[in-house]
Amino acid sequence: MSKSAHIAFIGLGQMGMPMALNLLKAGYDVVGFDLSSEALQALAERGGRIAASAVDAMSGSDVIITMLSNGKIVQSVLLEGDAFRQAPKSALLLEMSSSAPEETRSLAAKVSGHLRVVDAPVSGGVKRAVEGSLALMAGGSEADFEAAKPILGAMSAKIFHCGPVGTGHAMKAINNYVSGAGVIAAVEAVLLGRAFGLDEAKVVDVLNSSSGKNNATEVKMNQFILSGTFGSGFALGLMAKDIRTAANLSTSLGLSQPGLTQTADLWDDAARTLGGAVDHTRFYDYLKRQGD
Ligand code: NAD
Repeated sequence: MSKSAHIAFIGLGQMGMPMALNLLKAGYDVVGFDLSSEALQALAERGGRIAASAVDAMSGSDVIITMLSNGKIVQSVLLEGDAFRQAPKSALLLEMSSSAPEETRSLAAKVSGHLRVVDAPVSGGVKRAVEGSLALMAGGSEADFEAAKPILGAMSAKIFHCGPVGTGHAMKAINNYVSGAGVIAAVEAVLLGRAFGLDEAKVVDVLNSSSGKNNATEVKMNQFILSGTFGSGFALGLMAKDIRTAANLSTSLGLSQPGLTQTADLWDDAARTLGGAVDHTRFYDYLKRQGD
């Protein structure tokens, strides 16, 4: 895809906005759509074109990028009223939301013959979306992946081709299982240390120089939890959704994985208890309450 490609970007939230801005910075023509008028205004102020609807954005675009909360919303945006047919034939759909792989395969089958589909979810959070250093995990045919690569490259150089359609979304769910389990371990470690009389910050310092360090101890605990800001920009409900996706995938493959099942159950319960809209680092509050 050359720099002359017209890109429809649907979903300008915490992640979609900085990703769309990086495409603009790289010289692509981006037309955005979001249900939020504030998001549309913010894109327009930074040089993006805005559309009145998802259908309008897709019409005449060579590439459609979806960065929505989940695969069900993606399906409704693309399939209702056969909206995807507004895009030119053979347009490339980059489904970058964290969606369930089975849903993605079903979507790809429904739009097949009109759209080429690559699932390309991301990891790294808002900070790395802004920096353009996300991990991008793609699923699609070799040819479609090659076509997607320059566009993905404007959002990050860390691009992995995982296999056919759906494998990017499977990889993303697997990643977030490990990430969510890491949050549980890190939070329980800090609470355990505190109960014994250790300083919480000291626990984090020692973990980060020891074999117990993980992503939560390194980039979440001091920054968003012990600082009390709880502002990572990743909602608790989205984390719970991703780990449930991994658990459902495991069950559908006939596996019995008790660590994954319990991790998914805990995150679902936290989302029910605190509400899915709070920052996922509030999981600290959820576990702290259990001990109170
Ligand atoms: P978000 O809630 O901030 O953004 C979603 C956006 O979609 C919102 O702006 C919302 O108005 C818009 N939207 C909802 N329904 C729509 C519709 N029908 N048409 C158009 N726009 C619509 O979420 P986010 O944090 O940006 O996450 C987006 C996706 O990326 C999710 O699948 C999430 O799991 C994944 N993700 C998030 C992070 C993170 O750190 N926030 C990191 C990696 C992956």
